[in-house]
Amino acid sequence: MSIFTGIRRWYLSTVLRKAKIPFELWQESLTELVVLKRLNTTQLTRLRKLSGLFLREKQFTPVSGLVLSEKMKVQIAAQACLLVLNRNLSDFDGWHEIIIYPDAFIVDYKQIDDAGVMHSSERTLAGEAWGRGPVILSWADADPAKYHSRDTGSNVVLHEFAHKLDMLNGVANGMPVLNQDMLREDWTQNFSCAYKRLIRELEYGHHISIDPYAAQSPAEFFAVVSEYFFMSPQHLQRHYPAVYRELRKYYRQDPQHQDLKH
Ligand SMILES: [Zn+2]
Repeated sequence: MSIFTGIRRWYLSTVLRKAKIPFELWQESLTELVVLKRLNTTQLTRLRKLSGLFLREKQFTPVSGLVLSEKMKVQIAAQACLLVLNRNLSDFDGWHEIIIYPDAFIVDYKQIDDAGVMHSSERTLAGEAWGRGPVILSWADADPAKYHSRDTGSNVVLHEFAHKLDMLNGVANGMPVLNQDMLREDWTQNFSCAYKRLIRELEYGHHISIDPYAAQSPAEFFAVVSEYFFMSPQHLQRHYPAVYRELRKYYRQDPQHQDLKH
């Protein structure tokens, strides 16, 4: 071992030790996170390590009077890191802040139409993710204690951080940086087929099996199916098997076939 390898190892072990989330805090934070119940001990150990590093790298900013506890921060970090459990934490590089409101927040949107006229509209949001900027969350919507008992595919934390993965290569367009063993044509074909089908079903007033918000754009489709992938994997596989297959390759995990106990 060279002196440089030795120094590097020492540095990494020091960083990891300092970033480690205390065990009691980790256990307490996990209790309400049903989405993590499928992970086995090895996966949870890795998730704890990643979440600790994530907490060191990102700044959490509570606003509008929210009192932010360590448990809340760990719960957000653990869900964000679930997305990159078998990928790299560097997928979240290029930005550093997570802003948290106590409740849904209002955003003033300005748009210029083809005639050059400015239109302004207000929207109430549960979450938002900016390209090189922050992730913004409403704790009322992100609090796992609230969706603990609900059997839905929705999870605003997974949703916003999936947008971050999508935006790593520029714009949010539903096409994140694919792994080397994946084919761009397969992804495009499977996702565009599924997206078009959803649009058609909505147009004809047919029953749809996922949150209609997915029809807003290919970027929203990717974020919504990512939520289902982790929250209701059986449901997603039943209704969108090809999309499920692509996500399984992309996230390098299969939520349906992970150990059910920890
Ligand atoms: Zn979105």
